[in-house]
Amino acid sequence: MSQRIRVIAGNWKMNTVLDEAVELVNGLRYELDEIDTVEKIICPPFISLAKIKELLQGTSIRLGAQDLFYEDKGAYTGEISGSMLSDLCQYVIVGHSERRAYFNEVDEIVNRKMKAALRHGLKPIMCVGENLKQNESGTSESVISEQLRVGLSGLTSSNLMVAYEPVWAIGTGKAATGTYAQKMMAFIRRQIAEIFTETAANELPILYGGSVNPENILEMLAEPDIDGALVGGASLKPGLFLSIVRQAA
Ligand code: PEP
Repeated sequence: MSQRIRVIAGNWKMNTVLDEAVELVNGLRYELDEIDTVEKIICPPFISLAKIKELLQGTSIRLGAQDLFYEDKGAYTGEISGSMLSDLCQYVIVGHSERRAYFNEVDEIVNRKMKAALRHGLKPIMCVGENLKQNESGTSESVISEQLRVGLSGLTSSNLMVAYEPVWAIGTGKAATGTYAQKMMAFIRRQIAEIFTETAANELPILYGGSVNPENILEMLAEPDIDGALVGGASLKPGLFLSIVRQAA
């Protein structure tokens, strides 16, 4: 049994207008707050962060953003910087596969965003994972190795989390098996040890993401290198998210 903290993070993606976000948080916060053996993180859209911060004041629930830009300020219309986020939330998702796929976020951009997050005291959750084609052609490990090597290059701190999210499992209802996720996540931990140190690798939480639900969370958490989950669809349903967190406790 590892000494690492268990983490369940909910990625709401581009869902919920402000009223819906408030309703979702109100449906979760009291019960979630009582579970103290799990780091619980919710990542709503940017526009709801300030209001949700107020609602979570004094609770043990942490707040994260879903992305950030790598510059601190300036003429970057529409972007949100780490300095804007740093007094709103504690975490930020970086390099989610949807951003890589739809917004051309290559590893070098992910790396700049990782640096920006750490510079502003935000704890980044860096997403890595192979797509179906890469999986089927047997190149998963080299893809992930490259994502880690470039994404984590030149960082001065390992105060971060990694989420292993096989792209073929995201939003498809087809989660990886615990055995497969464990194999990949042990590989990720070995890579982290090479990039940082053995100690950093042992301390760093690695989360599984991809169709996590109350039925499969225990299969994941039974594995030694799986410290928690990044949950998409199921994080939008208070009952499902609470069940996942309760089982992780
Ligand atoms: C995600 O968005 O990071 C994710 C894992 O989504 P889902 O749980 O819906 O597959």
